[in-house]
Amino acid sequence: MQEFDVVVVGGGPAGGQCARSLAKAGRSVLLVERHKDFAINSFSSAGTPLETLSQYDLPDSVVGTYWNRFVVVTSNQQGEWKTPEAIGAVLDFGKLREFLASDVKANGGEVWMNCRYVSHSTAQSNSQTVVSLVRGGEAVTVGARVVVDATGPFRAVVYGKDEPKPDFLSGTGIEYLIEVSDEVYQRYSDALTFFLGYKWMPKGYSWIFPMAPNRLKVGAGIINADHEFVKQTEPLKHYIHLILQDYIKADYTLIEVHGSTLKYSRGLQDVYYRENAIAIGDAVSTVNFLGGEGIRHAMQGAEIASKHIQTYLDRQTDSFQDYQTEMHRVFLKTWNLSEKFGMKKYLQDCDEIVDKVVTYLRPLSLEDVVDILFFYRFEKVSKGLPQYFLRKLDSFWTRVTFRLRKLTH
Ligand SMILES: Cc1cc2nc3c(=O)[nH]c(=O)nc-3n(C[C@H](O)[C@H](O)[C@H](O)COP(=O)(O)OP(=O)(O)OC[C@H]3O[C@@H](n4cnc5c(N)ncnc54)[C@H](O)[C@@H]3O)c2cc1C
Repeated sequence: MQEFDVVVVGGGPAGGQCARSLAKAGRSVLLVERHKDFAINSFSSAGTPLETLSQYDLPDSVVGTYWNRFVVVTSNQQGEWKTPEAIGAVLDFGKLREFLASDVKANGGEVWMNCRYVSHSTAQSNSQTVVSLVRGGEAVTVGARVVVDATGPFRAVVYGKDEPKPDFLSGTGIEYLIEVSDEVYQRYSDALTFFLGYKWMPKGYSWIFPMAPNRLKVGAGIINADHEFVKQTEPLKHYIHLILQDYIKADYTLIEVHGSTLKYSRGLQDVYYRENAIAIGDAVSTVNFLGGEGIRHAMQGAEIASKHIQTYLDRQTDSFQDYQTEMHRVFLKTWNLSEKFGMKKYLQDCDEIVDKVVTYLRPLSLEDVVDILFFYRFEKVSKGLPQYFLRKLDSFWTRVTFRLRKLTH
């Protein structure tokens, strides 16, 4: 039986980054991924701020496009923000995961594709555990001192196969990858465009992201929970077709349809570890509920986990309690706030309020909007309010003086 310090289950951004980081630190690592290659299951739109590239030392080859414009379209409003320089990227999700896995190998780790985790034996603290896998259809066992659950919404390692899981808040996203003409592509090539409100996507949001020359991603995501006012919604594809027909209004060729369901634990109540098994990424709800952005947060959590795994391997601790504490310190407060705002925006606000958000944000710079939506600096929303109220006051006085003039003539 082959033995490793760590077996990482799941080759998403969390698992790939965790295995990469451990391999770089000289630990023996096996990364297993159930799919045959990373082109399969390339479900994520993968929009991210520019910082992600330098923070995780990602090469240009994983970038689909760069963006410097942000557009929000609601039922009755449209807001647009722009900077001269690129402020974010749209990653190629397949290439990102491929790169992380290849870096694991470059640093001495092993990567087994088409390899599914089945179970692992419970280990006494800091001793070996036996991990059962199915590799290319054949049962295989390997030894490890730590098993990492990076299986995203499946949480396949920290929960036993038949063990009941708590109720998660779930969101489902579907995306069309389409090919369009040069002229149509140019309209969207530098922008993340989001659609909100009853017209476009009542219980979530839809989007257009540029992916590569002449290629756009058009998607829609919905929270699978009740809305305060909207009692019925259409199937997700309806909202994608709405954007294609009513907004893009051009011929296209459909290249691929992909999607996935995210499962989020409200209040971050996830199981972070059990004995020598530790969960990372979406398996511990690192995806942000407000924006549905999860790649860099999964990688950030993976870095934190990698540090704690090394402490464990060095026998300086026999529990991952400190990992859970650090994850809560880093994420909990901001994630609770994001959850509150997300629930309000997607499930409680009426259409007029959704329209108003664009009006509030309009006076802000793109840097401010990115700070609010990607770096959760929610206090910056209030920067737009004085100008909003000044404009309201101005239009009120215009109406009053108009009426007074009419009365005096
Ligand atoms: C439609 C959609 C659009 C999104 N858009 C964005 C975006 O624009 N920007 C952004 O930052 N985030 C986005 N996200 C969220 C982001 O993709 C996730 O938060 C991120 O992928 C989480 O990474 P992860 O590694 O934790 O999990 P995952 O990416 O889900 O990876 C889990 C991996 O585990 C593997 N696996 C599962 N079970 C087993 C098993 N038994 N054995 C072996 N392998 C297994 C799976 O095949 C998978 O590869 C989007 C999500 C969706 C659904």
